[in-house]
Amino acid sequence: MYDAEVREAALAAVRSGQSISAVSRATGISRSAVRSWRDGTHRSRSSECPRCGPDPSSPATATEYAYLLGQYLGDGTLSRGRGNVWSLRIACADAWPGIIAECAAAIRAIRPDNTVSRLRRQGCTSVTARWKHWPCLFPQHGPGMKHTRAIVLEPWQEELVAEHTGEFLRGLFHSDGCRITNWTPRKTAGDTRRYEYPRWLFSNKSTDILGLCSTSLDRLGIAHRFPRPDTISVARREAVATLDRVAGPKH
Ligand SMILES: [Zn+2]
Repeated sequence: MYDAEVREAALAAVRSGQSISAVSRATGISRSAVRSWRDGTHRSRSSECPRCGPDPSSPATATEYAYLLGQYLGDGTLSRGRGNVWSLRIACADAWPGIIAECAAAIRAIRPDNTVSRLRRQGCTSVTARWKHWPCLFPQHGPGMKHTRAIVLEPWQEELVAEHTGEFLRGLFHSDGCRITNWTPRKTAGDTRRYEYPRWLFSNKSTDILGLCSTSLDRLGIAHRFPRPDTISVARREAVATLDRVAGPKH
């Protein structure tokens, strides 16, 4: 990427009548770059953001975005760094290397040119990438913890989540969900057997995020209840089976 000054100097030379080849030779900038600047066909960094500009759209990689939104709402943060560039950080437990890889792949799909790094801390790895426009994609960002402020999806996010509900739930359950196996002794024909039943739990302090999770479960017809105000439980056999297909297994 050339800075604006270099680009302006090259364009001035072209406008003064020099050929593209001559400007390219003199500056070392490729002919195609000079031509795209002259013709206005180059893609500036801000135009790579689907939300900035006159005709905002939702991210083209919708499945990955839905997954990453779930992960962000569960365990993600945005912080502003040098040069007004934001860092997206998704904290992933080291117990699930597959989820760390899936998170990194989702970020890479959305930002193929950015570096995705992994920062290791005790028991957890933060998958991070820097980009000026992360707040455009995650407008739920704000000061303080998520449960201390309203978390409301924008209409374009709601539409995307409605279309990719499974991926959104997958992101939520991969971050703040867990699948556990309970068991009870059961007597059958005089015989006591260990009867196991799996269930999914989703815990979050934000009532709004719990609400988004619950609405999405409803949309896929997955029965659930709130055993505690901060926890959603999916325990019915067919509901667990559906959520297994959608979200799991954690890996
Ligand atoms: Zn933007």
